[in-house]
Amino acid sequence: MCGIFGVYNNTESAKLTYLGLYAVQHRGQESGGIISSDGKKFHSKLGMGQISEIFAKDDLNGLKGSNAIGHVRYSTAGSTSLLNAQPLAIKFIKGNLAIAHNGNLCNAGSLKEKLEEEGSIFQTSSDSEVILHLIAKSKKKNIEEKIADALSNVTGAYSLLFLLDNKIIAARDPYGFRPLCIGKLKNSFVISSETCALDIIGAQYVRDVEPGEIISFYNKKMHSIKFSQNKKRAFCIFEYIYFARPDSKVFGKSVYSIRKNLGKQLAKESPADADYVISVPDSANVAAVGLAEQSKIPYQIGFIRNHYIGRTFIEPKQEIRDFGAKIKYNPVPETLKGKKIILVDDSIVRGTTSRKLIRMLKHAGVKKIHHRISSPPIKCPCFYGIDTPQKTELIAANKSVEEIRKYIGVDTLSYLSIDGLVKATGMKKEDFCLACFNNDYPVEPPKKKNNGKC
Ligand code: AMP
Ligand code: SF4
Repeated sequence: MCGIFGVYNNTESAKLTYLGLYAVQHRGQESGGIISSDGKKFHSKLGMGQISEIFAKDDLNGLKGSNAIGHVRYSTAGSTSLLNAQPLAIKFIKGNLAIAHNGNLCNAGSLKEKLEEEGSIFQTSSDSEVILHLIAKSKKKNIEEKIADALSNVTGAYSLLFLLDNKIIAARDPYGFRPLCIGKLKNSFVISSETCALDIIGAQYVRDVEPGEIISFYNKKMHSIKFSQNKKRAFCIFEYIYFARPDSKVFGKSVYSIRKNLGKQLAKESPADADYVISVPDSANVAAVGLAEQSKIPYQIGFIRNHYIGRTFIEPKQEIRDFGAKIKYNPVPETLKGKKIILVDDSIVRGTTSRKLIRMLKHAGVKKIHHRISSPPIKCPCFYGIDTPQKTELIAANKSVEEIRKYIGVDTLSYLSIDGLVKATGMKKEDFCLACFNNDYPVEPPKKKNNGKC
């Protein structure tokens, strides 16, 4: 996952982008950056870590110009290094060009091999660079056509922002895996992964970039081109379960309302008798509120989360992840001692978090634990931009629900059903990608990683 944000036609473009990136920081914390254009030159600042660590005040003053794009990265393809930080800029026949990408390409490996055979030299190991090479090599005349030409060769998930000397161009893959929305701030346009970033700078939501659409911002207006007639949608349902911020609208719907419905649906499917409902903060809070409301059992704060460390899952190394879980959550014994509780989490990936949290709850004196998960069991890896591990590491791909229950040490364990999940969104099953739950991949996964496919 990654977050992208851009501002067209505003003298404060870089500062607004900086604020926007703060709002989408939950989508990636490994590296980030902003590139602005003053019409002739690009100005850039990229760095490792979170936005607050990357930018000093003077850096923003140096990012001149009325157009800017920014990125926060969470690596799914390519290694963790400054070299892979985005936006990624090049010079080509039409001038300067930078890209910010959220998603994951499925055929980047084979395209890269072909491009290298033809003489292309790659600077990074990220899949996004392939798109830049394809644009630079395209024989089409104008930049919008070159981008459409390049995108017709790539498969997979992409929400993209391009910065040119005097334009910003947004594009979304034909299936619409990842969100991308447009806002208006007086005479400026704002493009963002999530609407929460529009709210923060006072921009009004206009609409989403449609799947298969390129929108070019120039001459103070937006110009739309359809580059794909694909009618099949594959919105990532995990955005509603875990990734997007609950104060955002994603795929045209409130994440908060849907996440709450997930909890309500879960309560209907798997009721339990308990004194309190507690959540694994913060990602399961809203589902737990829904479950508590439906069950008529009070919601209590059972864990205090330490907000001063990053998301543990995002750290790529196992030792760091284990350490992270211990310092991230602390149980509140006063709420828990001698009580029967329903513990709500949004998902179980490897099972390591649940196992540790449950140990902590028992240590704090909890009498009975009903564990409820507001998503179905994750059985297959994601190839479209969410960093789920290989099948061998996914606990639900290798153990039954009963075996997982025993492994994590709870009295009862229930997941939300796939049908219940879709029902809670109020949308159609055909609108979604559900591949990590049902093995139905809308786009052929990358060849090299195919061994992970179910
Ligand atoms: P695990 O210990 O691997 O089972 O991790 C499960 C926890 O990670 C859950 O509490 C989720 O909130 C969170 N989680 C689920 N998917 C992701 C993801 N793709 N990236 C980061 N965290 C995740
Ligand atoms: Fe989202 Fe799962 Fe599909 Fe990946 S496989 S895009 S996480 S629904």
